[in-house]
Amino acid sequence: MALRFFNTLSRSVQEFVPLEGDAKRAGLYCCGPTVHDFAHIGNFRTFVFADLVRRWLEFKGYSVRHVMNITDVEDKIIHRVAQTNGSLRDYTSKYEAAFFEDFQALGCLRPHETPRATDCIAEIISLIGKLIERGTAYRAADGSVYFSIEKYQARGLRYGQLLKLNFEEMRPGQRVSSDEYAKEAVADFALWKARVPADGGVFWPSPWGEGRPGWHIECSAMSMKLLGPSFDLHMGGEDLIFPHHEDEIAQSEGAGLQAPGRPFVKYWLHGAHLLVEGKKMSKSLGNYFTVRDLLAQGFTGREIRYLLLTAHYRESFNFTLDGLRAARTALGRLDECLGKLREAAAGATAPPDGNMLQQLTDSLDDDFNVSAAWGAIFEWVRNINRLAASGKLLPGQAAAGLAAWQKIVLAMGLETGETAGAPQELLAVLEQRNAARKAKEFKRADVLRDQLKSAGWAIEDTPKGARLKRL
Ligand SMILES: [Zn+2]
Repeated sequence: MALRFFNTLSRSVQEFVPLEGDAKRAGLYCCGPTVHDFAHIGNFRTFVFADLVRRWLEFKGYSVRHVMNITDVEDKIIHRVAQTNGSLRDYTSKYEAAFFEDFQALGCLRPHETPRATDCIAEIISLIGKLIERGTAYRAADGSVYFSIEKYQARGLRYGQLLKLNFEEMRPGQRVSSDEYAKEAVADFALWKARVPADGGVFWPSPWGEGRPGWHIECSAMSMKLLGPSFDLHMGGEDLIFPHHEDEIAQSEGAGLQAPGRPFVKYWLHGAHLLVEGKKMSKSLGNYFTVRDLLAQGFTGREIRYLLLTAHYRESFNFTLDGLRAARTALGRLDECLGKLREAAAGATAPPDGNMLQQLTDSLDDDFNVSAAWGAIFEWVRNINRLAASGKLLPGQAAAGLAAWQKIVLAMGLETGETAGAPQELLAVLEQRNAARKAKEFKRADVLRDQLKSAGWAIEDTPKGARLKRL
């Protein structure tokens, strides 16, 4: 069965067929963090899901190019920076570093590219320029540049692809300058915001005067810069569907860079909200958790990740501390089973248990049905425990189970403490790289090193030989 999932663009479950068809390459963009504060556990639900999607595509043999931006200039950040004496970068770098620490703690593979908006100002200005050239954007009296929905629609292009909008209330030329607004406020939105005193030192020169980019244009510019004008998969939390993603489509397709008949993005994949202890997260309710809050309480990143991955991405999920304690128990059972397999295998090797991998594939290919996947995994664990208890677990069978298990943990991102050294597959790649260096095949050694790097691991040379270290 082929991979199928819910495409917000078509509002239906569709088979995943990348734009390049048989090439088995997939471009994946996920809207990254706005680095104005520590990211909370709700933000990480999206990132862990995007990591699962990437790992699953890789499991299925796709070569994935994963891009996640860092939003380091937008309304909230400017507001916070204004309250400090430092620069924008002074302020955001602390939260950016913290974000990647948390990201890694949750076992997320580092995306291949993590562009910062402030490093892509030239591309953003160029994209706004193209929209003005095409008559789809205009400079207002205050020097800000707005996207004209009316002109866009007059070109036969569609605004409101991800959700239905009511244009009857809309008056042409009506504008909204803030980065976030409700769908009732549909109006021309800001691409470039003219400098105002409240911006302090945060501004750049542009053909339209000093100012800064709006939030939406940042993602259009960064995604198309790194993945091309049309790419396969765009992800984010469901709260980004409007206006952020709708505006991304309008800006990107409005610039007209796509080949005829090709969309900006073929599949839009959105993750649902997270509730914490049954309620919407809020600092005043005391249910607002960052990853570091939970680590400080003694939970591990692996437990948090497991719990986040027990819920289907389209269902809102109630994250609780009790759930985390149950996650610890569940992972304990898995690790115990792994120990039994290792003991029974006694060094034997075998190809992976195909039946187990088929069940995993059937589940995750079916709109990332994680409940079915965990159901199959725990049924398998019960079976192994039964065999082990009656002394009937044969070495070959145990080795096949171990080999399957290695693939499963890699797909789910649940490497244990010991394999957090590195998954077996990657250790094999490291050995091949060492052999290539020994044989002075440096080009091949470099290719293997890059392969490790794209899987999120760096080679560290130590007196005891080369080993892998997480990037
Ligand atoms: Zn975005």
